[in-house]
Amino acid sequence: MKRIAVFPGSFDPFTIGHQSIVERALPMFDKIIIAIGYNSGKKQFFPIEKRIEWIKKAFNNNPKIEVDTFDGLTVTYCKERGANFILRGLRTAADFEYERAIAQTNKKLDHEIESVFLLTTPEHTMVTSTIVRDIIRHGGNALQFLPDIDDKEAYLRQED
Ligand code: ADP
Repeated sequence: MKRIAVFPGSFDPFTIGHQSIVERALPMFDKIIIAIGYNSGKKQFFPIEKRIEWIKKAFNNNPKIEVDTFDGLTVTYCKERGANFILRGLRTAADFEYERAIAQTNKKLDHEIESVFLLTTPEHTMVTSTIVRDIIRHGGNALQFLPDIDDKEAYLRQED
């Protein structure tokens, strides 16, 4: 059986912290689906199409990595995709408490799906999508927090 992990998140935008988690998890799985949780009612910063494009470029179309969107429950999406693992990153004790509640609930909803956590590397602990959005909103340079892709500056200029 293939080991498929779903890495769910808002990824608004996808940062070097997210990228690092995926890269470190790659040896553990046959496939990682980076799944952008889509909530039509929720305000977004970068349009979903941009986020998808950005993530694909960040991984140079690596065949082990897929980028998709989903709405609804993560466990339902995992089932649809034949994934038995949910991948998440942990930065702080606050992340732990939040993730613990979600993972334990997901386990109740579907006991076949395991949540797997990777601790962030020290240099990525302070990188958050919220901070990156604030920097961009206020005209600062957020490039150092974003994956290295060719047209990264052009991409940032296209934000909504
Ligand atoms: P969500 O809105 O679901 O929290 P995010 O896009 O903020 O989605 O994060 C997705 C996942 O990536 C979460 O598990 C989060 O803890 C993890 N993550 C975010 N930033 C980092 C980082 N700098 N280092 C490691 N993990 C991170």
